[in-house]
Amino acid sequence: MRTIKESVDLVVAGGGTAGHVAALQAARAGIKTSVIEAGTMLGGTMTAGGVYMPNHFFSTEGPVVLGIAWELYTKSKKIEGLPIPDYRKRRPAESPGYYSYINVPIYAAIAEEEAGKAGVILHYHEFMDDVKAMGNYWEITSLGRGIKRITRAKEIIDCTGDSDVVRILGLGVLCDEVRQPGTYQYKIEGIEYEQIWEKEIQTIYEEAMEKGILKKGDFAYANSLPFSYYLAHGGHNATHVYDADTSDAEGQTRANLEGRARMLRMFKFVTSSIPGCERAVLKTMYSHAVARETYRAEGEYIITKDDFMTATDFKDKICNAFNYLDMHSREKGCDVYFHDRKDLIPKVPFRALIPKGSSRITVAGRIVSAERMALAGIRAQCTCMAMGQAMGAAAALAVKRGVPSREIDAADIVALTIEHGAATV
Ligand SMILES: Cc1cc2nc3c(=O)[nH]c(=O)nc-3n(C[C@H](O)[C@H](O)[C@H](O)COP(=O)(O)OP(=O)(O)OC[C@H]3O[C@@H](n4cnc5c(N)ncnc54)[C@H](O)[C@@H]3O)c2cc1C
Repeated sequence: MRTIKESVDLVVAGGGTAGHVAALQAARAGIKTSVIEAGTMLGGTMTAGGVYMPNHFFSTEGPVVLGIAWELYTKSKKIEGLPIPDYRKRRPAESPGYYSYINVPIYAAIAEEEAGKAGVILHYHEFMDDVKAMGNYWEITSLGRGIKRITRAKEIIDCTGDSDVVRILGLGVLCDEVRQPGTYQYKIEGIEYEQIWEKEIQTIYEEAMEKGILKKGDFAYANSLPFSYYLAHGGHNATHVYDADTSDAEGQTRANLEGRARMLRMFKFVTSSIPGCERAVLKTMYSHAVARETYRAEGEYIITKDDFMTATDFKDKICNAFNYLDMHSREKGCDVYFHDRKDLIPKVPFRALIPKGSSRITVAGRIVSAERMALAGIRAQCTCMAMGQAMGAAAALAVKRGVPSREIDAADIVALTIEHGAATV
């Protein structure tokens, strides 16, 4: 095994939804930044995980997340040759949710291209193994095939989705006994939709469930949507994987196995039982199951459901968190809860991104310090990216001023993100 030494200002652990934006912001603001990413590309759940639907850039009132997230999204749409919809015209106030769709290959490549331009050092196929505080810097050991990298850095942002760095350091985490199911994403194509009769299909689906040909969770939205929705949706399925714990390799392996077994079962059912699907093909599956929640950091503040639903106007707010509560469960499937008023735009406070009692480390993404119900709203991709941009800015300001990131004023963080195109908070 080769040992490699590296010295940077900032290590971003995990180049996923939050991490790729954090790294871009930090590097563009002038600090030397590396990304240690266990997977194969930038974007995490939104690319490699197949959840290619970032929401929300806009509320019906106006922009809520712009900045680097919006820049990458619009650049990728331009390459696809697709127009940007006017989101303000999309939905009535009582149901303001909408999805933007990214093209995974184009988005992942664009994010990488921008990282290259900004000077971000990318280390794929490496995972965080050990982190030690050494006076005013960190010594980080990451392992990859044939490689042991020892990085010296002033700041770390934990964007691993499972609080890996926070857990390595023995800092507090929040993890509930009952967690939302994970999901395995795949797509069955070639459905001849004109052959599909909604009511007939629903009966065939219900009979298959009764006979045990399909299992609960194979179609995750049975409580709220007809089975034909899934077929009409281009065969893109977000199959539930109950009790998925992707926070270590064993749990990840179990979730992948279960997800793929569910995928195969669904494909066999669809092609053998549904008129119009005889010639359907299973062409796209994503490499691994993804989690909605595992370990969150216990921060200097824990965002409550009430904070989210009443849009508490925190003094140290660093970004918007506009979304509905999107709560999945084994019992019910998927429930969504909207805000009462369209002018309620929830916020994320800086304290919820600082692990309790820590210094020179922040977190971003779905590991934000929040109660479970609040997380069901905050975990949306645009908010994760906005948190990433804010923590990239905090790290850059900290390194330049020679102080720990936790000492940076939230207003300064917001000002720097706005300089880099972010929406006002
Ligand atoms: C099934 C599902 C459907 C969803 N639907 C939507 C939706 O429609 N719209 C929406 O906006 N949001 C949706 N979400 C929520 C959203 O996708 C996630 O909350 C968000 O992507 C999480 O971002 P993150 O940066 O925290 O984690 P991730 O994007 O998962 O990134 C974590 C990264 O860290 C890496 N990593 C992990 N551990 C290590 C380690 N030890 N060392 C190095 N790297 C490591 C991983 O490889 C990964 O790339 C959905 C989530 C799920 C699971």
